[in-house]
Amino acid sequence: PVLRVAIMGLGSYGTRVAEAMQSSKKAKLVGVISGTPSKVKDWQAKYNIPAKNCYNYENFDAIKNNPDIDAVYVITPNALHHDQVIRVAKAGKHAICEKPMAINAKEGQEMVDACNKANVKLLVGYRLHFEPKTLEIIRMREAGEFGKIMFFQGLSGFTIGDPNQWRLNKQLAGGGAMMDIGIYSVNGARYMVGEEPVWVTAQETKTDPVKFKEGVDETIQFQFGFPSGAVASCLSTYSMSNLDRFFLNGTEGFAELHPATGYGPIKGRTHKGELTQPHQTHQTVQMDEMAAIILEGKKPVVPVDGEEGLKDLKIIDAIYLAAKTGKKVDLTV
Ligand code: NAD
Repeated sequence: PVLRVAIMGLGSYGTRVAEAMQSSKKAKLVGVISGTPSKVKDWQAKYNIPAKNCYNYENFDAIKNNPDIDAVYVITPNALHHDQVIRVAKAGKHAICEKPMAINAKEGQEMVDACNKANVKLLVGYRLHFEPKTLEIIRMREAGEFGKIMFFQGLSGFTIGDPNQWRLNKQLAGGGAMMDIGIYSVNGARYMVGEEPVWVTAQETKTDPVKFKEGVDETIQFQFGFPSGAVASCLSTYSMSNLDRFFLNGTEGFAELHPATGYGPIKGRTHKGELTQPHQTHQTVQMDEMAAIILEGKKPVVPVDGEEGLKDLKIIDAIYLAAKTGKKVDLTV
């Protein structure tokens, strides 16, 4: 069987996912949910999508009565994910949701609860969790090849353009760089170190309060402590060019990914040499793997479920709190 997917939100990332899905062996694009009739028409022609599988944001609850769609992939602005995923769950369809899963942990928990209640799967678009060089580092760590893990550095950022885009609108983005790109270092710290942080500290700086309004973070540095004693030091920013580097160090060796999270090829090396795993389109691999998770109950090496998305949201809530108060936030309570 093939996972029959409808994409909600036909923007730039939705378009990328649709293209990548054409090469997927296990997932097939069969439907769309969009507020723009002209886009629906274009996608119908391009991907041979029947009119009965096309919905808009008002009527998509009716997907409940459509036996030809198994899952909806929500690829809209961050703040919309919560309500949209809950509506998908209520329609009895599996939900795949882009990162950040929601704009805070409370909303994330509600999404997890709604999907559990409806007995549908909730997966988050963490494409790096299937990336071969990343997985090789995780394998090496688990085999003890870095010794005891002591330190992770995550640098995530880019220079954001158009000041009028939704990413710079608190209502739609839920925050600033942290929600959009800093989340890669939050998530990366967890899968590279292989532990959950127990405390967070954070410092925010803003050089352009016109472009980055109240509640829209430009640059945040943050630090984590892990149960083993390992620490992480990370940077999230909307004001630096192509900042995308992970560095993991242990008592016996190191791993570096640079770029670590872009669309690829991901490049990296360890104390043992270059990482040579071949590049595959991330979104194609992700859709194959997610289809296997949903249809065959496959267990990924690094989880991509709603609980995983919620862990990042709890940490992001703590980063914002730590930045605001200047105090260390304890994540164990
Ligand atoms: P985009 O602006 O290109 O597309 C967003 C789409 O949502 C547009 O088609 C827009 O018409 C639609 N939309 C529906 N309701 C809207 C509303 N009320 N206001 C504005 N737009 C509305 O954005 P994008 O880059 O495609 O990002 C969409 C989501 O995908 C975000 O959550 C983002 O974080 C995520 N994303 C993930 C990755 C990744 O690598 N996993 C990469 C890019 C984006």
